[in-house]
Amino acid sequence: MTPEEALDLVIHCLDRAHTGGFKVKAFVRARDVVRSTDPAEIAERAANDTLTKLDGIGDATARVITEALAGGVPSYLTKLEETTQVPITPEGQRYRDALRGDCHLHSTWSDGGAEIEEMAATARGLGHEYMVLTDHSPRLTIAHGLNRERLEQQLDDIAELNAGFDDFRILTGMEVDIWEDGSLDLDDDLLERLDVVVASVHSKLRMERHQMTERMVLAVANPHVDILGHCTGRLIGKRPESTFDADYVFAACKQFDTAVEINCRPERLDPPRQLIDVAVAYDCWFSIDTDAHATGQLEWQPHGCNRAAEREVPIDKVINTMTAEDLLAWTAGG
Ligand SMILES: [Zn+2]
Ligand SMILES: [Zn+2]
Repeated sequence: MTPEEALDLVIHCLDRAHTGGFKVKAFVRARDVVRSTDPAEIAERAANDTLTKLDGIGDATARVITEALAGGVPSYLTKLEETTQVPITPEGQRYRDALRGDCHLHSTWSDGGAEIEEMAATARGLGHEYMVLTDHSPRLTIAHGLNRERLEQQLDDIAELNAGFDDFRILTGMEVDIWEDGSLDLDDDLLERLDVVVASVHSKLRMERHQMTERMVLAVANPHVDILGHCTGRLIGKRPESTFDADYVFAACKQFDTAVEINCRPERLDPPRQLIDVAVAYDCWFSIDTDAHATGQLEWQPHGCNRAAEREVPIDKVINTMTAEDLLAWTAGG
């Protein structure tokens, strides 16, 4: 294992444990220093115990580098591998076993922390047959949303990457913002070209109930929309659920074959339990997605699987249990 690989794995484990903050940043910084430094210099400094003289490398990161160079698995990584597994219930495992892909995730093209290639390699390593790349739409400038030009460039890049796989596929997509009037933040011709479209509310989350209902129903009814992302917008302990008439929204999801996302991010876990129950009662489709912004977060599907099992979501109504071909047929039909 090279120092870079060891640091990458540490970052992956910290991300899947949702550690965040200073610790992850320190390891990302050290990884970047290692990437941009001559390996001979790294080895020499490890031998002389002078790695920490490099700007961006501290005691903890130096130890990982030194132990990797010594030929073993760094002890810190071994500890993280054991302690950061994402918990799954036996019932949740049934759902996880049935999943073949992940329909909502981000790359460095918008606000993600990993390149498309890295996300794809991890998704493939997790046993997925496909992933849908859903970077943000133009209006979300704080998240580096993709304008037409960049999206078209991304579609070309994905086609090139796909040519290199024989057992995995990157499906094209976008997490498209839903404007206040229910219209979508992307032109129709581009929506048409994408394999899978996730539509989400990211602004004016405190909109009055009646208006929010209308806004969401219009988006759900849009023929290009396949999945309604994190429907309440809540951030647990930080931001309340937005208010809308769930009967109208989920009846529309049923009517227009738009899947209700079960968002697996630990701070979202959206929809909340009682709303999953409403969507189940309406016989909606579901999609259990990580909304990953880092490779480690691609391991978050158990959070949603546990929740789906608990609320008895029918497995055959979960769209990412389908093969890529069936999913594409489903999105084209819906
Ligand atoms: Zn979102
Ligand atoms: Zn997202």
